[in-house]
Amino acid sequence: MDGKLTYYEVYREGAARLGEADIEEAELDARLLLEFVCGTDRNTLLVHGERDVSEEEYGRYCGLIERRAVHVPLQHLTGEQDFMGLTFLVNKDVLVPRQDTEVLVEEAMKHLHDGMRILDLCTGSGCILLSLLHYSNDCEGVGVDLSARALSVAGKNYEIQRTQRPDMKARFLEGNLFEGLEDRFDMIVSNPPYIKTDVIDTLMPEVREYEPVMALDGGTDGLAFYRRIAGDAGAYLNGGGMLFFEIGCEQAADVCKIMEAAGFREVEVVKDFAGLDRVVYGSWFG
Ligand code: GLN
Repeated sequence: MDGKLTYYEVYREGAARLGEADIEEAELDARLLLEFVCGTDRNTLLVHGERDVSEEEYGRYCGLIERRAVHVPLQHLTGEQDFMGLTFLVNKDVLVPRQDTEVLVEEAMKHLHDGMRILDLCTGSGCILLSLLHYSNDCEGVGVDLSARALSVAGKNYEIQRTQRPDMKARFLEGNLFEGLEDRFDMIVSNPPYIKTDVIDTLMPEVREYEPVMALDGGTDGLAFYRRIAGDAGAYLNGGGMLFFEIGCEQAADVCKIMEAAGFREVEVVKDFAGLDRVVYGSWFG
């Protein structure tokens, strides 16, 4: 290359390559990768489409496009994902934060008061717990995950979030759900693995091949973690404390039943922006 390729030409080439590779949002991803490589934003690319891309940038861009073309998730290439207006580091050891999960955070926030203690089970990147702490005052959070690798990502995200909120109080613990916890909480939140084991092979390659299966596999009927968490949660909640779950869109009736059988009251279902059941929550009165 003679250094004469422009933003616009490079973007068109990337979008065409991703289109050929059947990447769902080829144009969007081609643009986001170009912004990432050139350290620029959407407006600059639009307004200054005729600007030259350096040889070094073009080389890096083509490398990333080739990796995206084999379905490596965009967020694994950029290393980050925005969630609740905050930016979180991600890698292959954690589930990429989903927009669906913002519904869980927003619902929990309606019931979160200053000074509460929050437990996040299967915390992954820590995005749920850290968002709740970011948008509240004097709360204290504990995030638990079975994966030490996930916790290393959560720990980095905590450090980053603390640069904006130095008063933020969180601890991240390696463990199997409630194992090793001794104290009680006012709120438990969880986006546990909830995909039926048999279904995992049918998910899109980005998820199936690149995201951690332990963050997805909810057992034969997808409900294993709801049973375990709801069954034990009462012993870790203060009176009036609440349990919030993200669910798969066909699991609302089952999860409501599981929570009611475990002794939760005022169990409610909340829909996501697509109109699908996405959150179930309830209260514990001992
Ligand atoms: N919503 C995730 C997906 O799209 C699943 C998350 C989970 O199992 N908790 O695959």
